[in-house]
Amino acid sequence: MFYLDIRYATANNFLKEPLYDCAKCLLLPEVAEAVINASYYFCDRGYALKFFDCYRPLSVQKQMWEKVPNPIYVADPAVGSVHNRGAAVDVTLATLEGEPVAMGTDYDFFGKAAHIDNFNLPEEVLANRKVLQEGMLYFSFATIQSEWWHFNYKNKSGAPVMDAPLSCK
Ligand SMILES: [Zn+2]
Repeated sequence: MFYLDIRYATANNFLKEPLYDCAKCLLLPEVAEAVINASYYFCDRGYALKFFDCYRPLSVQKQMWEKVPNPIYVADPAVGSVHNRGAAVDVTLATLEGEPVAMGTDYDFFGKAAHIDNFNLPEEVLANRKVLQEGMLYFSFATIQSEWWHFNYKNKSGAPVMDAPLSCK
C-alpha cells in the first residue's frame, strides 16, 4: 500500500511554489519493482510507504539549486541527482490508515535533526527511522547521511539523467 504526498506538486515545499504539473511517483522499472516489494514487507509490519518525491526532472533540479546551492542538501544539476535518474525515493512510513509516523522532522528539513547519524532524538523517532532504514536497505536501497527520508537504489547512480516533465496524462 502506498500513499503519495508529492510536495513539489504543491506549494508546501522549501521553494514555496509548485514545481510539478502533477503529483506522480515515477521510477525506473527495476526501482519501482523494489518499492512494491518493500511495500509488502512494511505492510506485514503494519506500515504503508508514503512518498514525497520519486523521479524529478532536471529542470526542477536547476530551480532547486538556484535556491539552495549546497550539495549536502541539493544535488548540483551539473552532476544530477539520483532523483533525476528515476532511481531515488523520498519516503516515510505511515500507518495503514495513512496517519503519519513520527520521524523527528518534516520532509526537506535542512539541518542536523534530519541527519541519520543524529541519535539525540526521542526513542520513538529513532525506532521508527530504524524500521524504515532496515526495510529499505533489505530491498537494496542505500541511505544518505543528511536526509532520513532519502534512499538511492543500488547501482543506478550512473543511469542517464532525464528531463521529461511529470505530465498529467
Ligand atoms: Zn531525495
